[in-house]
Amino acid sequence: MLIVMQAHATVEQITAVCKRVESLGYRAHAMPGAQRTAIGVTGNKSEVEPGAIEEMPGVQELIRVSKPYKLVSRDVKQENTVVRFAGTDATLGGPGLAIIAGPCSIESREQSFAVAERVARAGAQFFRGGAYKPRTSPYAFQGLGEEGLQIMAEVREKFALKIVTEALDNESLELVEQYADVIQIGARNMQNFSLLKRAGRAKKPVMVKRGMSATLEEFLMAAEYVMSEGNYNVILCERGVRTFADHTRNTLDLSVVPAVQRLSHLPIVVDPSHGTGKRNKVTPLSRAAVAVGADGLMVEVHHDPDRALSDGMQSLYPDQFDDLMVQLRQIAPVLGRTIPTLRIPLLANSSSTWDATTRTTTAGSL
Ligand code: PEP
Ligand code: MN
Repeated sequence: MLIVMQAHATVEQITAVCKRVESLGYRAHAMPGAQRTAIGVTGNKSEVEPGAIEEMPGVQELIRVSKPYKLVSRDVKQENTVVRFAGTDATLGGPGLAIIAGPCSIESREQSFAVAERVARAGAQFFRGGAYKPRTSPYAFQGLGEEGLQIMAEVREKFALKIVTEALDNESLELVEQYADVIQIGARNMQNFSLLKRAGRAKKPVMVKRGMSATLEEFLMAAEYVMSEGNYNVILCERGVRTFADHTRNTLDLSVVPAVQRLSHLPIVVDPSHGTGKRNKVTPLSRAAVAVGADGLMVEVHHDPDRALSDGMQSLYPDQFDDLMVQLRQIAPVLGRTIPTLRIPLLANSSSTWDATTRTTTAGSL
């Protein structure tokens, strides 16, 4: 059920409707929009009886939402959600492209600082890295745990980067919530409903990665789980799905970007690293992701990928990431998107450009 308030409804009227909804045993989610506020009503009891609410002051109409997801839907909120971060101009959603870059795993302070320095210089606003790693083999590197989170907190201080890192389970989420700026829910956990609900009670934005075989509806439902607990700062991430194709690790489904944007107001970013599993495909698919309308990219970068403890094969060298950023600076304006300005004055004067015919970058001062 969706309660549409009148355009001039007062805060008191909105609060009164929310209280009435809650007194009936449901949960009210007030979603302010440019024109009017809509109140999403959720709860796993039977249908809401409209009579009690319909006549309340400020209420315009009640709409039954037949889709199984509600809060993620544009029915509830037409305007795009923009996730903001206090004290910075970094956003997820909105006209600015969000660039999230960093190693697959946090391996050491030296490794993290080496990568963070390069991605910050190139213009990333977010640093990614796993402290808790979901590995297929129990004998593969499982991450540094809290030590990894502490290293990322140092990276945030030193390089003014926002931190994106994965919570593997409810226990690690407690710690990740303390250190991270964005809590990542990995592909393998996209249907871990207790973890999604716990993330929905967290005070930080949550990025939900698409499960390896998740349909669009299942993907949106995962985000709905987070929102249904009251956390509306949710970002979706396409990271490839399993298909018969074996020339890449996964098949990056870029068509899901406009499909999500049609149905949902949530931002969607693309991860071409896990989406392809091959370094040489990351830059072309990054360009395509921006062209298709993604709100940002999440890219793995390592200063010494041959010795990376995880996903070295799909990690860009820092020089390649520089090149990618040069290309994105040319592509973004065509799509009406902005890209973070370089924070190092020397690089801001770079004359480097990308030549589409030769597919090379004139390195300039990069
Ligand atoms: C990751 O981003 O580090 C990761 C493990 O990705 P995914 O959950 O998409 O496999
Ligand atoms: Mn990885």
